[in-house]
Amino acid sequence: MKVKFNSILFNISKAKFSNRINLGEEAINNLKNHDQKFLNKFIKHKQLLIDGKFVNSKSGKVFDNINPSTEEIICQVQQADLEDVNQAALSSKMALEKGPWSKMTAFERAKILYKLADLVDIHREELAALDALDCGKPFSIGRDSDMEIVSNILKYFAGWADKVAGKVINHSAMKNSLCYTLNEPVGVVGAIIPWNYPLAMASWKFAPCLAMGNTLVMKPAEQSPLSLLRFGELALEAGIPKGVLNIIPGFGDAGAHLASHELIDKVTFTGSTEVGYKIMRNSHTHRLKRITLELGGKSPNIILNDSDLELALEQATNAIFTNNGQNCVAGSRTFVQEGIYDEFVKNIGKHAKNQKVGNPFDDVDQGPLVDKELYNKYKKYIDLGVKEGANLITGGKTIGNKGYFVEPSVFENVKDDMSIAKDEIFGPVMSVLKFKDLDEVAQRANNTPYGLGAGIVGKDINSINYLIKKLRVGTIYVNSYNSEDVSTPFGGMKDSGIGRENGENGLSQYLEPKTVIITLH
Ligand code: NAP
Ligand code: MG
Repeated sequence: MKVKFNSILFNISKAKFSNRINLGEEAINNLKNHDQKFLNKFIKHKQLLIDGKFVNSKSGKVFDNINPSTEEIICQVQQADLEDVNQAALSSKMALEKGPWSKMTAFERAKILYKLADLVDIHREELAALDALDCGKPFSIGRDSDMEIVSNILKYFAGWADKVAGKVINHSAMKNSLCYTLNEPVGVVGAIIPWNYPLAMASWKFAPCLAMGNTLVMKPAEQSPLSLLRFGELALEAGIPKGVLNIIPGFGDAGAHLASHELIDKVTFTGSTEVGYKIMRNSHTHRLKRITLELGGKSPNIILNDSDLELALEQATNAIFTNNGQNCVAGSRTFVQEGIYDEFVKNIGKHAKNQKVGNPFDDVDQGPLVDKELYNKYKKYIDLGVKEGANLITGGKTIGNKGYFVEPSVFENVKDDMSIAKDEIFGPVMSVLKFKDLDEVAQRANNTPYGLGAGIVGKDINSINYLIKKLRVGTIYVNSYNSEDVSTPFGGMKDSGIGRENGENGLSQYLEPKTVIITLH
């Protein structure tokens, strides 16, 4: 008898409160042990999604997708080149102008997005497993946090789809007139997605973009294409018409082709400031484009004398070690006021050591770093920290002889001009710096090209409010960290980016206002 693949592999069971498909212990073990036979069946999509079909790249090129926990090849993924980018952009353009998408009401679009959110909920274990394999994110965190974000964001923006309207305006010079604004889709959007929250960051762009009636070509990071490709299949299942979402994994130049393509009306990118600058320069080769950039950071987390010590330690740990420090808004500069400094330094090592590092399919807080490049970068900055005279309280070593596992690390006695205090490391390295008063810390916190986020821990509302006004950053967390939500605008000042994602502000990134002035006679 031929037994269906799913029933052998997945021990499908219904979760208590949802119809989620759980993977089961055997599958988790196979994933953990990089069982190649199992992976070959588990990974359904390694091709490009163009015009509603999974296809090979025109050039026949593929790239290796590496498991950061084992350094083995998970699979080979089709690699988009210029010709594939052309096809994807054309498909999105046709879908925008001629396909059923353009004729749907906003309410119909919303219904599809709600259905997709349900599908993500049902498949969240599979999607989280793909992210764990691809970028080393702990499976349980992917399932309970990243996929929760994806589902919530789809629902949040589905809710907005039919609620965006223009305004009636009183023309100041023409009494006999009717003036109003319309908000129309910006057009074909090219989105370049990072690997640190692969599907969550994709949904920050995908959900508002489609809710507002645009079409989209997405390029996942080379480190993490798998969950997005599976998501693409779910999008088709939810009823997203062909061409509305094209997905083109690439390696080396697909991003640049997409950003400069003449059929692309808007580019949205999350990644390094360095590539953000390149996109600013190159995206206007053929024409002007709308641009949203969510870039790097070196965010300060400021701990005031009157802080509750436990809360300060907890939030400082959360600020830097969340997602292994691979977080654009990571609070990597911990500024501690002199009255609480010694107590903080005495206790912070313990908190860092409590972070469990290990295989992402075990019960851990942190998996490996995403790739060898970042692993080497971590080692380089640990060496620089020691060489430049900071005091390494804990961590600093790599773990095991396979995979990109590293220890959560804390340096104290860090000075503003040290490399670890200036550069974005994108790893689990906390720099603790001492300060005396509010003006001093505000000036030092702002003394960086970046301006993404900041944390403040303390009790006196006057001091906190004083700092809130002084800090040049896009998001400030008070007595918490990483507490942003689908409803809260997120993005950076200065070299941390342009524009805001999420919340009502996120909508405007995907809309073109049109003003209508009707002269009545
Ligand atoms: P990255 O270099 O910033 O970005 C790589 C992505 O950008 C790839 O998808 C790449 O596509 C695309 N790209 C490269 N050059 C381009 C160009 N000229 N025009 C358009 N797209 C282009 O990211 P990374 O190498 O993965 O990480 C490096 C650093 O970026 C990290 O250490 C971290 O500091 C930062 N980062 C920040 C975030 C964040 O959340 N803000 C997320 C991830 C990384 P191709 O493969 O086609 O070249
Ligand atoms: Mg790079």
